[in-house]
Amino acid sequence: MTTQPNSAEARDIRYHLHSYTNARKHEEIGPLIIEKGDGIYVEDASGKRYIEAMAGLWSVAVGFSEQRLVDAATRQMKKLPFYHNFTHKGHSPVIDLAEKLVSMAPVPMSKAFFTNSGSEANDTAMKMIWYRSNALGQPQKKKIISRKRGYHGVTIASASLTGLPNNQISFDLPIANVLHTGTPHHYRDALAGESEEAFATRLAEELEQLILAEGPEMVAAFIGEPVMGAGGVVVPPATYWEKIQAVLAKYDILLVADEVICGFGRTGNMFGCQTFDIKPDILVMSKQISSSYLPISALLINERVYAPLADESNRIGTFGHGFTAGGHPVAAAVALENLKLIEERDLVGNARTVGVHMQKRLRELAGHELVGEVRGVGLIGAVELVGDKQAKTPWKNAGALGGLVNGLLQENGVISRNMADTLAFCPPLIITEKQVDDMVDAFKKALDAAVPQVRG
Ligand code: PMP
Repeated sequence: MTTQPNSAEARDIRYHLHSYTNARKHEEIGPLIIEKGDGIYVEDASGKRYIEAMAGLWSVAVGFSEQRLVDAATRQMKKLPFYHNFTHKGHSPVIDLAEKLVSMAPVPMSKAFFTNSGSEANDTAMKMIWYRSNALGQPQKKKIISRKRGYHGVTIASASLTGLPNNQISFDLPIANVLHTGTPHHYRDALAGESEEAFATRLAEELEQLILAEGPEMVAAFIGEPVMGAGGVVVPPATYWEKIQAVLAKYDILLVADEVICGFGRTGNMFGCQTFDIKPDILVMSKQISSSYLPISALLINERVYAPLADESNRIGTFGHGFTAGGHPVAAAVALENLKLIEERDLVGNARTVGVHMQKRLRELAGHELVGEVRGVGLIGAVELVGDKQAKTPWKNAGALGGLVNGLLQENGVISRNMADTLAFCPPLIITEKQVDDMVDAFKKALDAAVPQVRG
């Protein structure tokens, strides 16, 4: 790229190592610099406007210009910009938020614990699970089962739970005690002619076989996202969660629901657990809890987890875990105001009704020659692209078509994200039907524009 030596682009290349980016390619192409936000739109440094079809990172529920969150942060900054919750200390925002989250929980929950990211929250879940097993005198019960394609973060423990190669290759992961079972991806992994129910039964049997092979007394917990996000927006087949939960109950295995993407309305209910009738022991939340205006995440734990943990902390003298900024008062105040906005404006209802429209509009593209499958629920959807519809095979190499169409879509003023050949659509919950139409029309144009390049 040709830029002035002191331009923001040049300085970005010089000084900034990006997350989830090919560093050498970045040296060549540089960044897209986003300067401003306005509702569902963001604007780059050249003044070009985009529909932010990923809500940032699946996270900005209320849009990119919500003054009430700015005001909530300012008020709290002026009153008490920082305090912590170590050694019996507390402050009002964190107490209010803990009460609010416990009251919103889809199943009876006992306590909220605060962290700063989805990864930290999942690390914390893993530590709590091990601590609990020790408390119960079951020190061997430490294995945690996750799923291939599951996404739970990037710290050493949470990246181990994550079931995607890029998070583990060359990082010497996963660590011990983490196992991965099958993905509920009907389009990719079901046998020819296998119904959703039969596929779900087979996945539950696979899980049970894994538990029996390891020894049920060794397996402490299972973790899953109600709908997989970064693994390609995988909506589980009918009866999947019911059958998985029956296996877990049979062997006394805890269930962790990672609601980092699904939580706070994304699937058309407040929690993905409601959409799929999931009854977790630990519920992990982040992202839309504060619309990502400030970093904050949380775990809700039930009495089954809390009681032994509390006893163990009493035996040892403390629960030796917690982060300096966990439950940060400004982030907690913003989260509270954000949850108020989600309720006042019925953004969950909007996700449900506009979600139906988005799913319908995206499914109209199912017949397109480059589209393998359209899937989704509520305001989370995905289109999986293929070079050959019958064979479900990629064009050139995996990810080439996804990258091509995603680039064309960005030129057309929509920011999506391609996970290999799957493009995700996860817009802010405030999106209207008209804006969904604009987004899908731009996507259709990008698909059509890709055809001559693919077939040429
Ligand atoms: N769990 C899920 C389901 C996620 O989607 C993510 C982030 N995309 C995480 C955990 C990790 O969150 P963070 O990036 O805040 O560490």
